[in-house]
Amino acid sequence: GAGPEVDLARVALAAMLAAVSKAEPELGRLDAVAGDGDHGSGMARGLRAAVDTAGLGHRDLSSLLRAAGLAWSDKGGGTSGALWGVLLGGVADGLADDGQGYSASRVVAAVSLGRDRVVEAGHASVGDKTMLDALVPFVDVLRTAVESGAPLSAAWSGAAQVATEAAAATADLRPRVGRARPLAERSLGSPDPGAVSLALCLTAAGSVLAA
Ligand code: ADP
Ligand code: MG
Ligand code: MG
Repeated sequence: GAGPEVDLARVALAAMLAAVSKAEPELGRLDAVAGDGDHGSGMARGLRAAVDTAGLGHRDLSSLLRAAGLAWSDKGGGTSGALWGVLLGGVADGLADDGQGYSASRVVAAVSLGRDRVVEAGHASVGDKTMLDALVPFVDVLRTAVESGAPLSAAWSGAAQVATEAAAATADLRPRVGRARPLAERSLGSPDPGAVSLALCLTAAGSVLAA
């Protein structure tokens, strides 16, 4: 049967949904500064679908994450829904059930693969004022911490803290891709909604890992 990591993933997705639901109005306001204002509602809708799908029977962690990502992109819609689907799909591919278990270094490799897929799909780089401005430092710090021997939960929490700071620091950037680009100047002084929500999700998932 499915191992404990399947339940952990379900609880982590539920914690992400709780965090995003609480922040839904604020994420909408941030997206309305230079975008179309739907980021809070889209994230909540996508994550709700991911949580519902994760609650069904799944053979293993990889199948659960893949199904959750597909549900998220299908129901969440928008750029962020599509990219979260891609991200979870990449993580799922990195955690295929090969009988090797889920070491911290394997999780790092899987999250790195998810990040690479987001870059491939969205053609954005660090500094373009997107979710990548939180995701890339998260993965870098996670990798460094795990390589220096930190347990996954501690490494994840530290990396999520860095992602939170990096998301806040996007306030100084002008969007170079996505729907917010035409109103780039207006966006100065406000952080990127997708980076903020990604940091919230990483923090929520980290608190589950640490519990
Ligand atoms: P939409 O822009 O379609 O309404 P959302 O409002 O849900 O979708 O998501 C907007 C977020 O998507 C942005 O704040 C940014 O973080 C992210 N984003 C937009 N374009 C890209 C891209 N090319 N690569 C990575 N992230 C992107
Ligand atoms: Mg939007
Ligand atoms: Mg939209």
